[in-house]
Amino acid sequence: MKSIEEKYLELKSKSGTHSPSIQTILGVIPELKIEVDACFLSNPYATELFLSYLKRELLDTGEINRILEFYPSQSFEIAKLLSKHVGVNEDRIFITNGAIEAMQAVIHNYVENKIIVNIPTFSSYYEFTRRDTEVVYYSLQKENNFSLNINDYLKFVKAEQPDTIVLINPNNPDGGYIKHVDLIRIIESLPEIKNIIIDESFIHFAYEDSELELKSIVPYLENYHNVIVIKSMSKDFGIAGLRCGYGIFPKGWVKDLTTNGFLWNLNGLAEYFFRLYVRKDFNEKYEVVRKKYITESLFFISELQRVKGVKVYPSRANFVLIEITSGKTAVEVATELLVKYGVYVRNCEDKIGLNGEFIRVAARSKDENEIIIKSIDEVVNS
Ligand SMILES: *Cc1c(COP(=O)(O)O)cnc(C)c1O
Repeated sequence: MKSIEEKYLELKSKSGTHSPSIQTILGVIPELKIEVDACFLSNPYATELFLSYLKRELLDTGEINRILEFYPSQSFEIAKLLSKHVGVNEDRIFITNGAIEAMQAVIHNYVENKIIVNIPTFSSYYEFTRRDTEVVYYSLQKENNFSLNINDYLKFVKAEQPDTIVLINPNNPDGGYIKHVDLIRIIESLPEIKNIIIDESFIHFAYEDSELELKSIVPYLENYHNVIVIKSMSKDFGIAGLRCGYGIFPKGWVKDLTTNGFLWNLNGLAEYFFRLYVRKDFNEKYEVVRKKYITESLFFISELQRVKGVKVYPSRANFVLIEITSGKTAVEVATELLVKYGVYVRNCEDKIGLNGEFIRVAARSKDENEIIIKSIDEVVNS
């Protein structure tokens, strides 16, 4: 019989560059007890908030019946709904079944000869490219804490002359953040680049001041014809299962794409979420759980930094990249955490651009964070 370790490692290798979900893992290894999912990067308080609305407005009222029985609105209706809230004309908003679909649409249709992707990264940005697109990697340096050296990056881009560049802000898997002023400098230095993709899937966890206010590039898009924004709702709103995302695209693209598909790519519950997303009462409550989660995450990260045998890289997202310096490998640590302690973390051995033993750990609720820290300390240093 295979051990739990063997079954887990086999599953992980079958999942390619993404991690198997908890449901998948438990389906294959039902004897495993998962206490904390620190692999997936979501705000658990936002999930609770959404659930409380869903229960009160859909389940308790029986409204859920209508949502499941009938067709949801078509994508352009949702774009119209989002327009005022997002502050962008509806003909530039591309509503998608998860942000991954917006990425796919851009990469398949508008990226041409060459794309520059900063590594380590979210793998889909290079995996989804067409065969005739060359992928060029720009390496974020471990010695530089994976932060982007802007002058060096600009020099690199100008020498390579790609048609597309990608900046994930904050970046996944390291949480590195490009400040708003720096991002503007990058954009203004590269008017010749056809597509500047800015992925703001984690922007709600980043902040620029002590009030924890965030600074999105979206209000500045009018000034730049070449900036494309990708936004996932999965992590910050804690609703990955609903598959909600959108892209903000240059004029003309959305019409092009939706006359050729993407008509009903939102399900009824996703539509319900987007209707909440633009509501004042929901937003006020969301801001409270957003800031609460950031505050707790900052404490979590500072506590992790005190653990021996690991190096915690600076992050302005809800997760941290951790290098294991005690001599154990990332696979050993991730497997032991899961099997012995029920703590699921992202083993980063498959991430290109990472040299060393790395795991990525997400902040969870306060109680879960304590379990994560204690388990990591014990596993790494045993
Ligand atoms: C998770 C993630 C996405 C995709 O999110 P979905 O909305 O769940 O498809 C896109 N970009 C980055 C950087 C991510 O981490």
